[in-house]
Parts: sequence; C-alpha cells; structure tokens
Amino acid sequence: MGWSMKIHEYQAKDLLAAEGAKIPAGIIANSPEEAVKAFDHLGGNPVVLKAQVHAGGRGKGRFKDSGKDFGGVKFITKREDIIPIAEVMFKFPLVTLQTGPEGQKVSKILVQSAADISREIYLGMVLDRSEGMPIMMACADGGVDIEEVAHKNPEKLLKMAVSPETGLLPYQARKLAFALGFTPEQVPQAEAIMMALSKVFLAQDASLAEINPLVVTPTGEVLALDAKITFDDNALFRHPHIEHLRDLSEENPSEVRAAKSGLSFVQMSGNIGCLVNGAGLAMSTMDIIKYHGGEPANFLDVGGGANKDQVTEAFRILLSDPNVKAVLVNIFGGIMKCDTIANAILAAYKEVGFHVPLVVRLEGTNVAEGKKILQESGLKIIAAEGLTDAAKKVVAAAK
Ligand code: GDP
Ligand code: MG
Repeated sequence: MGWSMKIHEYQAKDLLAAEGAKIPAGIIANSPEEAVKAFDHLGGNPVVLKAQVHAGGRGKGRFKDSGKDFGGVKFITKREDIIPIAEVMFKFPLVTLQTGPEGQKVSKILVQSAADISREIYLGMVLDRSEGMPIMMACADGGVDIEEVAHKNPEKLLKMAVSPETGLLPYQARKLAFALGFTPEQVPQAEAIMMALSKVFLAQDASLAEINPLVVTPTGEVLALDAKITFDDNALFRHPHIEHLRDLSEENPSEVRAAKSGLSFVQMSGNIGCLVNGAGLAMSTMDIIKYHGGEPANFLDVGGGANKDQVTEAFRILLSDPNVKAVLVNIFGGIMKCDTIANAILAAYKEVGFHVPLVVRLEGTNVAEGKKILQESGLKIIAAEGLTDAAKKVVAAAK
C-alpha cells in the first residue's frame, strides 16, 4: 500500500502557474520580520497571511492555546498588525478539522496580495475509480464548505471525464466554464486554469489536485486563490523535482521512519498495533479487529521478504506509540518463512523488550518450526489459531 505525498499551497500554486494558471502575487516568509518585508515588497496593499501546513480548512482553524480567534488565513490591512499576527502563527500549532487535536507547527507563511472576491468556485481533479479515468470536478458554490455541498447537494458537483492520453480538451474546459456560469470574458481565463490543473495532475502523477476557491474578482479577473496537490508515491521516482518539494516536518515521524526501512506504515488512532505481511492481509487484519470491537493503531506491512532488522524496527515503531496496548503479529509464510519471523520476534524482544501483550498468529511455510521456536523461547506470547481467534485474543488483551 502506498501513501501519497503532499506539498504546501505555495508549491502547488507555483506548479499551476508554470502551466499558465493565474495566481495572486505572493512571497514566502520564514519569520514575522520577513512577512513585513514581503508586505512592503507587494506594495503595502492589503495582504492575506496564509499559514503553510499540509492540511486544509486553515481559514476555519485556530492556533492552539493562543487565545486568539483567527485561523491560518488572516486578512491584513495595516502594516503594524503583521508582526503580532505572524508571531502567533509561528508560535502556536494550527488546529484544523484535518490536522488532529495536537495541530501542526507552522514554519512558513505565504504573504499574498489580497483579492476582492465576487465569486468562489471549486475546481478539482481526482482519479475516479468507478469511471476508471481521471475526472475534473467543479462546483459553482466553492469556498470553505465544499464538502458539505458535495454531501447535501451532490448534483451541484459537475464532473468531466478526462482522457489520460490527451488531457482535458479545450472544448471540455469551455463546457465546464459555461456550466459554472462564467461570463464570455471570463471563460478563457477559467479555461487556462482548468488546462493547467489537468496538465499538472497528469504530467506529475498527482492523486488529487484542488483549487478551492477559484475566484472571480469584481473586475472580472479569474484567479486560483488556494491550491492543494497530492502525488502518487508509486510514481515519485519519475519526478525527482516533485520529491524535492517534500517537507518531512509535516509528516508523521513514525511513517517517515518506517519508510526508511522499507516498511509500509500508516498511523491510526486505535490501541492495537498490527504487524502483518502483505497489504491485503494487513487490511483484512484491520477489518477483523474492528469486527471484533477493537481499533487498530496502525497499518504495518513488513512486506513479502522482510528480514530481522526490518521486523525489529517494525516492533520499535509499534511499541514507541504510547496508545498501543497490545500487538497482533499476523504472518502468512509464503516467501517469508514462519521460522524466520519467529527468530525475528525473539531478536526484537531482546532488543526492544515488550511491555504490552503480544498475540501471534503464524500460518504457512515452516509454520511448525516457527511455533516451536516461539514456544521454546519462554517468551510470554499469546498464540492464536486462525484470524478470528487472533482478533478476539488481541481485542481482549488490549482492554
Ligand atoms: P483554507 O481554509 O485552508 O481552504 O484556505 P483558503 O486559502 O481557501 O482560504 C479560506 C477562505 O478565506 C477562502 O475561501 C476565502 O473566502 C478567504 N480568502 C482567502 N484569501 C482571500 C483573499 O485574498 N481575499 C478575500 N477577500 N478572502 C480570502
Ligand atoms: Mg481552500
């Protein structure tokens, strides 16, 4: 199973602008003082300070424990307001609906020329699995509440299938633009942004690309005011310049660490750590844990041919999560032999030490040898026979 790589708003906008999308003027600031310089450089007109984090919903977010009632998108008209506002943005983590309660530290602020807005439109592109094609999505009611609109009035979401060979065709862009109610003067501008979105999405192997909002100003200018792009990690090797945009400080440290050892790891919020080989088995393991009333703390696939070092590192990562109250090892020995995994568990135990119950289910190649090694080890392991037994035992152990 892959993850997808996110980038910051300012980086996404640069990619879109390089393909012809019009974006507001903006400068990145790494400190409150730099934000003031950026304001001056932009001509001293109103700006918007935009906290750069890999999460949406910034405008409606709040800076944790700051006591302030503004979020990660703040309109500024006076030069003297910049320092105090930017200080708060850099100091306190930004909590939005997408960050989780601990929030995300801000280390860059985009200082952007403020736009006057007459209309906010949603524009996005995603791989539609039921169509088997990328689709461009658009909604005349864009802005901050697009999820709600898509949920309550799905018919308002316009969809256009895009051929991966040709990309969005100009006539398709015009059709969408007219359906969204752009005036004839605005249509070519909207078309340019849609074409840019399609080009970036396809050329860079994105998995999701959104401009929300795409705005129309009172003078009829069409601009990409916000942008968000995530990339398919399986294709990153083809795009070193995209991989270069990665900001590890925005990512879960355990996930970064696991990736370094060639482990597929995704953090979740439950209390049962899972160590499994194969993505399919990992998913069914999580399903059956939930079916028996438990909550997985993670998805961890050690892969088909994991070695002792990888398994040890996998245990270190699992056990470093304070939420983990029990661990389930569910291995189907194919390429990976059960005795290899049993020895790896012993080695990991010696190195890491287990402070929570460990339920082990082994099946497949050399299963008898594997079980014997664990039995004779004297380790306190709860042995399980089959998936159901394993799930029941680990759910009970975590309680
Ligand atoms: P998000 O909350 O993370 O999606 O950040 P956005 O960049 O989309 O900003 C949220 C909302 O703030 C937008 O939908 C706009 O309504 C408003 N906003 C952002 N930039 C500007 C601007 O330049 N001028 C005005 N008037 N509003 C803005
Ligand atoms: Mg937005």
